[in-house]
Amino acid sequence: MSSIGQVNTINPMKPIFPGSMLGLLGGGQLGRMFAIAAHQMGYQVTVLDSDPDSPAGRIADQFICADYADQAALQQMGEQCAAVTTEFENIPAEALAKLASYCSVSPDAHSVAIAQNRISEKQFLQSRGFPVAPFAVIEQGTDIEAMQDLFPGILKVSQFGYDGKGQRHVNHATELKTAFSDLGSVSCVLEKKLSLKCEVSVVLGRGHDGNVTCFPIVENQHVNGILDISIIPARIPETLAENAFDVAGNVADALNYRGVLCVEFFVLQDGQLLINEIAPRPHNSGHFSIDACVTSQFEQQVRALCHLPLGNTNLHQPCVMVNLLGDVWRRGEPDWSQVLRQPSAKLHLYGKKAARQGRKMGHFTVLDVTADEALARASAIKQLLESN
Ligand code: ADP
Ligand code: MG
Repeated sequence: MSSIGQVNTINPMKPIFPGSMLGLLGGGQLGRMFAIAAHQMGYQVTVLDSDPDSPAGRIADQFICADYADQAALQQMGEQCAAVTTEFENIPAEALAKLASYCSVSPDAHSVAIAQNRISEKQFLQSRGFPVAPFAVIEQGTDIEAMQDLFPGILKVSQFGYDGKGQRHVNHATELKTAFSDLGSVSCVLEKKLSLKCEVSVVLGRGHDGNVTCFPIVENQHVNGILDISIIPARIPETLAENAFDVAGNVADALNYRGVLCVEFFVLQDGQLLINEIAPRPHNSGHFSIDACVTSQFEQQVRALCHLPLGNTNLHQPCVMVNLLGDVWRRGEPDWSQVLRQPSAKLHLYGKKAARQGRKMGHFTVLDVTADEALARASAIKQLLESN
């Protein structure tokens, strides 16, 4: 029985099979790895990005060089694709909404709009009872004197911040005022600076049927606000990992999310788990899954997008992922033999030309019998690359 105009959200959507054209908003490395996974499974990929030479655009079957607000470009993408996803959370939600009038889009505009703004993200999480760090919204005219409880704190711009960019550490009201104007007096959140035992993340897929599959939990080490090393599985108690899986799954359910989602957590000294932020896409901390899991986070993105059952996320072996930032290129092209001569190290380079400081250029993953052994070997390779 069917009635015209009635949307039935319970019926599974029709699968989109290999050979179909998938659309991707954004041409960065996450998009490139999505395109590689999609190609491997026999799909074609259209990439939309304003950069004429982006990592994903370069390997796409079709490339639309345009801004995300370009209505004609969005129409072209919507008409030629069976489904569209994003690799970039700062896509205007209206672009996703427009595409959804042509084809299947995941994640949806609503989830992306929440995740792309720290204020709406924190307010959403708090309103649903998820634990977050103490924070306040700082706007022009906010009573900064009333923020005493949040010092020392971190002031973060509400939008477009990434890899620790758009953040300032502040110890008192005077520093806060300076930092706020330094950041352009845009809407911000002030967050209490917490003493962290460690940071972990859960990357998950949530299918069209609401089924959630989590990847193994990841322990993340940051340097200057940028992810440096991920250790899998995280060296935390089983009960804490279970708690993180539950919370991450509940966040995805609360958003009625479809696609791959990452939930970043702070673990406090007393073992308490707080949500730091969420990313409505595959995540840097999930890159290990390409080499170490039955299904990668990018294949999972394809599967969720195409209304297919989610893949098995079992870990083949413990592993460590090391990010390769532009800094490693400061004395020219790194000596890749340091990675390539290791039989269980897997090198990934994103094909970016300019190796700027702090820019993510690639990563490598080392698999071993235990996470600690993988960490020791990965750290040794990292040191050799950096001392080149
Ligand atoms: P980004 O969007 O750039 O990833 P995050 O808010 O995740 O920004 O901050 C980057 C890193 O900075 C975090 O992973 C953590 O290491 C550190 N950090 C951020 N907020 C806090 C905080 N409130 N207390 C302690 N460390 C923090
Ligand atoms: Mg982060």
